[in-house]
Amino acid sequence: MNVSHHPYRTYRTTVARREQLSPSFLRMTLTGPDLVHFGTAGLDQRIKLVLPLPDGSFTDVGQFDESVGMMEWYRRWRELPDEQRNPIRTYTIRAVRPESREIDIDFVLHGTEGPASAWASAAAPGEPLVVIGPDARADETGGREWNPGDADSVLIAGDETAVPAICSIVESLPTHVTGSVYIEVPTEADALPLTAPDGVAVRWLARGSAAHGLRLSAAVHAWGESRVAGGTPTADVADPVHAPQPAGPENAAGAELADPSEDDVLWEVPEDTVGSCYAWLAGEASTITALRRHLVRGLGIDRRSVAFMGYWRRGRAEAA
Ligand SMILES: Cc1cc2nc3c(=O)[nH]c(=O)nc-3n(C[C@H](O)[C@H](O)[C@H](O)COP(=O)(O)OP(=O)(O)OC[C@H]3O[C@@H](n4cnc5c(N)ncnc54)[C@H](O)[C@@H]3O)c2cc1C
Repeated sequence: MNVSHHPYRTYRTTVARREQLSPSFLRMTLTGPDLVHFGTAGLDQRIKLVLPLPDGSFTDVGQFDESVGMMEWYRRWRELPDEQRNPIRTYTIRAVRPESREIDIDFVLHGTEGPASAWASAAAPGEPLVVIGPDARADETGGREWNPGDADSVLIAGDETAVPAICSIVESLPTHVTGSVYIEVPTEADALPLTAPDGVAVRWLARGSAAHGLRLSAAVHAWGESRVAGGTPTADVADPVHAPQPAGPENAAGAELADPSEDDVLWEVPEDTVGSCYAWLAGEASTITALRRHLVRGLGIDRRSVAFMGYWRRGRAEAA
């Protein structure tokens, strides 16, 4: 009998081990018997983490009951009072080893204000975490946005939250692909080992004391300028002093860094990618929105060649 499986399912896991990759990145390896079924789509495939309540518990809304559909238990979860509703946050699957029933997730440690970062900072081996992830037995795969079509040239730009996705994407690029990858991270020591095809230049941009997004923005602007001039992009001009400054009426480039309004669309990915150059942008929403605007409006790049994803919003907890 052919049993159809939903593309995503709920996995009970526990922390197997933790590895501090750099000052800001913590790799958490999770294990659980059901992970033998975990899907392996890779790239920027997203997953959801259901975090324990402060007392370590998970409110039962039917998430482990196969007869309760995901929409139904999610509806029940939304109706719970705050103190009973486990926080849910979005992450990227960095590695999957079904044969050893393990998955890796790379967390950005950004303090203890957010429940996910707080949990990752403290969780010891053996602590439980619920993961909503792809099911390898399903016919469909969801949650993946990387879709370059026939493009053989790429622009990839993101901040530290996009590092797991960017690393997986870059590692998967065919050898003939050329392009530029700009990754803004908190410190120089956060530049992780990453192998790219010969024609793909990877630049890690240490933020240091610069404002979030400034160095990334400068690098992408420089890429645009060299593209217009027909030269080779040099991300090394990403000096925060000469980068676009924060919004001000007299500063057109800076105005692009203005915070998006509540209603701004912060996620748009082309379904049918066109063109020979594909851009993938992910990270803090106001930076990414501004960069996308620059590519599409400023440089005239077809919006069907640009995927942009606001992975988080400054000053706002993720709304699951
Ligand atoms: C598709 C997708 C994939 C993602 N993949 C990853 C991933 O693999 N690894 C990863 O670390 N993150 C990833 N993120 C980002 C992550 O979901 C957010 O950073 C999330 O807000 C973290 O939850 P939290 O509970 O720590 O903080 P929240 O409770 O959501 O936020 C609390 C406060 O912290 C701020 N904040 C949130 N994230 C950061 C940050 N990185 N730096 C500084 N301040 C922050 C918020 O603005 C808010 O003020 C991804 C997001 C998406 C949408």
